[in-house]
Amino acid sequence: MKARVYKSTGSWYVLKDVEGKWHQARIKGKFKIENISSTNPIAVGDWVEIEGLDSPESIVINDIHSRQNYITRTSPHNKHQHHIIAANLDQSLLFTTIREPRTSLGFIDRFLVTAEAYQIPAVLVVNKTDLFRDKELAVFEHWKNIYTSIGYPVIPVSLQTGEGLSVLKELLQDKTTLLSGHSGVGKSTFINHILPEVQLRTTEVSDWSGKGMHTTTFAEMFDLPLGGRIIDTPGIRELGLFDVVKQELGHYFPEIRSRMQDCQFNNCLHLNEPHCAIKNAVQENGISADRYVSYLTMLDGC
Ligand code: GDP
Ligand code: ZN
Repeated sequence: MKARVYKSTGSWYVLKDVEGKWHQARIKGKFKIENISSTNPIAVGDWVEIEGLDSPESIVINDIHSRQNYITRTSPHNKHQHHIIAANLDQSLLFTTIREPRTSLGFIDRFLVTAEAYQIPAVLVVNKTDLFRDKELAVFEHWKNIYTSIGYPVIPVSLQTGEGLSVLKELLQDKTTLLSGHSGVGKSTFINHILPEVQLRTTEVSDWSGKGMHTTTFAEMFDLPLGGRIIDTPGIRELGLFDVVKQELGHYFPEIRSRMQDCQFNNCLHLNEPHCAIKNAVQENGISADRYVSYLTMLDGC
């Protein structure tokens, strides 16, 4: 029977079958997953086949359906070790804040590049609008201009006053959404708001252990009362961008992708090459200087 994975502990999986019944299952056999080498064969959001339903102890996952998409995290110690965080996502929501604390544009852009690379539509939520004064309002307008002009929705919200929450709920309806953001931006407050019955873990989640060899994922999917699902990834500060090569990076910036065919050289990295459409667009304000700086910073790290 077909079922979806809601939680993975590494050896046990919590699933809901297509008839709406909950099960716990183990994995039977080995799974050959696409062409990535990952430390976990099955992740939250996966669609699988289960058998052995006659008794709760004998339920096993014996097959996995192909993934629409997935995101992974890489070990900071071993770039080639991947851990699949979640699969089959309709969208990813990045929670950000301008005050208490300020999310950096570099952080936002790395998230967006990752979402592009995994082909997951991304939405930016700017929380704590109740703290906005003139300075923050100006920053918000700046962010909004940058990101809406390249196709990413920017939604101002305040979990304190309730501003923007109806827009956000509408966005989540009937979709599988990954929730991200660094700590302090209000993710737990948001989850407690949309899922009042969920007791969120408040304990500090240990990330990669000192040796960097064991991974523990605490990603968990929750059904929303209004329809749809949300995947929470506590303890995961940043999605791991898989090994992007320099030549590929520009493809993950929509405003670079749409102009790169106008560069003189088809292998242009948009650094100092002559007749570069990207540098021209930056000079003419067609491309945000902040985004270009993020591109250069990331290029340096490829
Ligand atoms: P998380 O680390 O992303 O899960 O963030 P939390 O949900 O724990 O929130 C961090 C802090 O920000 C808490 O003290 C919240 O009460 C506070 N907070 C969350 N949303 C808002 C908001 O809209 N306005 C203000 N002023 N504070 C908020
Ligand atoms: Zn160029």
